[in-house]
Amino acid sequence: MDKIITYSPAYTLVPTYECFNRCTYCNFRVDPGQDGWLSLEGARSKLQQLQSQNVIEILILSGEVHPQSSRRSAWFQRIYDLCELALEMGFLPHTNAGPLSYKEMARMRNVNVSMGLMVEQLAPELLKTVHAHAPSKNPSMRLQQLEFAGQLRIPFTTGLLLGLGEKKADWTVSLDAIAQSHTKHGHIQEVILQPHQPGTRQAQKRPPCYGSYLADAIKTAKERLPDDITLQIPPNLIRSEAALINCLNLGATDLGGIGPIDEANPDYSHRPHAQMVKLLKTHAMTVQPRLPVYEQYDGWLPDHLQTAVTTWRQKLAN
Ligand code: SF4
Repeated sequence: MDKIITYSPAYTLVPTYECFNRCTYCNFRVDPGQDGWLSLEGARSKLQQLQSQNVIEILILSGEVHPQSSRRSAWFQRIYDLCELALEMGFLPHTNAGPLSYKEMARMRNVNVSMGLMVEQLAPELLKTVHAHAPSKNPSMRLQQLEFAGQLRIPFTTGLLLGLGEKKADWTVSLDAIAQSHTKHGHIQEVILQPHQPGTRQAQKRPPCYGSYLADAIKTAKERLPDDITLQIPPNLIRSEAALINCLNLGATDLGGIGPIDEANPDYSHRPHAQMVKLLKTHAMTVQPRLPVYEQYDGWLPDHLQTAVTTWRQKLAN
């Protein structure tokens, strides 16, 4: 029998590309104030086009407005309103907008079926290098987000960004911290292992991550993480078919949200769906769509979100 490999049919809405952090490898950000925010009207017309295209997840991926900025509450409200709109139009929102306050996350829970934030790497040395001008990448703040999500019972996606200049021993520290949070709260549905690949817009060039490096990370993650956490890899960042298949054979079982543009890595487009299906089929793997919330968490969601999720589960089953 074929092994099942899942993905989430997704489309990414970007409320704003502006971000007060300056990670040196970023291919997404513009300076604060340099980007008009996505309007609700603009989002509505985009979402209308998607209603006939089998898209389930709307990933709301945003640059960050500083927590002390006078524009923070308007920024937060815009993200909230976009989630609400996506829900009203029949989609399932999943937000990743950087670290939120406990109060902000508690509100966001009402309009998201799951949320996400990459731990990236907890190695403090990175605060002197790639994250020297990125206060949001403080490791303790990232861990606190996992704790908030656990306390609020939010199904959560996190992960590691590989190839930032960390040592392989640092992976263990980051993975153990994720495992510990999950053991306490049971809320981590998936961990992404994301290899850094250089883009055309980043401030500082870094070498690409090769398949063997990612394969080693998967092996470490399989050793350190509880079995009920799904391992996800982004297939567009793994150019070699052999490396991709190797990662899936090593225990990654999910390809993440797949849509027309990877907004964080716009230089790396996804393989056409039919090509991916064919490739995996030749290795006895079947590609299957999934929702952005894993079934074991459906009961954690507020009632109105449970209703939306049930509708999608029925659609996928038919
Ligand atoms: S990687 Fe994320 S947090 Fe860092 S500058 Fe880019 S958008 Fe901001």
